[in-house]
Amino acid sequence: MTEESAALYVVPTPLGNMADLTRRAEEILRSVPWVAAEDTRHSTPLLKQLGSSARTLPAHQHNEHEAAARIVDKLRAGEAVALISDAGTPGISDPGARVVAAVRAAGCKVVPLPGPCAATTALSGSGILDEHFLFYGFLPAKAGQRRQTLEDLRSLPYALVFYEAPHRVLETVADMANTLGERTLVIARELTKLFETVHSLPLAEADAWLKEDSNRQRGEFVLIVSGAPAGADAGEGERVLKLLLADGLPVKQAAKLAAAITGAAKNALYDRALALKS
Ligand code: SAM
Repeated sequence: MTEESAALYVVPTPLGNMADLTRRAEEILRSVPWVAAEDTRHSTPLLKQLGSSARTLPAHQHNEHEAAARIVDKLRAGEAVALISDAGTPGISDPGARVVAAVRAAGCKVVPLPGPCAATTALSGSGILDEHFLFYGFLPAKAGQRRQTLEDLRSLPYALVFYEAPHRVLETVADMANTLGERTLVIARELTKLFETVHSLPLAEADAWLKEDSNRQRGEFVLIVSGAPAGADAGEGERVLKLLLADGLPVKQAAKLAAAITGAAKNALYDRALALKS
């Protein structure tokens, strides 16, 4: 092996296209004696394909503490370990962070490799112009918690990057439209795979677009929502909007006045007022 041996190598693996495995990742997986994998059965074919003779040990969300202790023992005995998840980068909405923390706390070396990650792949092809982004990962599965989380994110002027499962994509997109108002949504589906789609549209049109063809609801998804409009204090806009609605003003008038007072987007406030009323 060309790199320092007794280290934990954090190795991203392809999202779908084997050609995305970096040469460095390949070298490490071939040469380390141990691979700690989220699902050893899932990762064995990859290791076989690479001609790796590494032995595997499980490191998933239910045994991360125990796995970390085993990995630290191996590192202290001078053996290198590669950490992989089922696809993409370990620790990014995947197990791995606890193992890395324990290895660092034990004073052993951690070497992270760059490589495939659905969030950065989607962002780079999104055309979203926000200078900053916030990676959120999976929203809560329960509707109430999901809506509250979206409320909490609503006024941030950063592109918001989410992971979502196919069976929840419709309800999540509906909640986003109700909560976030007028934004651009980028739906990045099946990245690096045969049916890869990266589609950009107004958030309000996403529900109809997804329903137009049920294939559009299949596969793996990254959803990116453009940030809250700059120059508008959405939080202040909502505060004023609520006061006006509580005073009995009709939705349209309340939205118009709140927008004029605070500089927040009128249409977003109008959508918001409708959501608050319902
Ligand atoms: N660690 C991975 C990474 O670096 O992207 C993410 C793992 S997370 C358990 C799996 C989620 O990532 C999927 O539900 C989906 O939201 C997203 N994802 C993974 N592969 C994808 C792909 N090929 N296209 C779009 N999204 C993908």
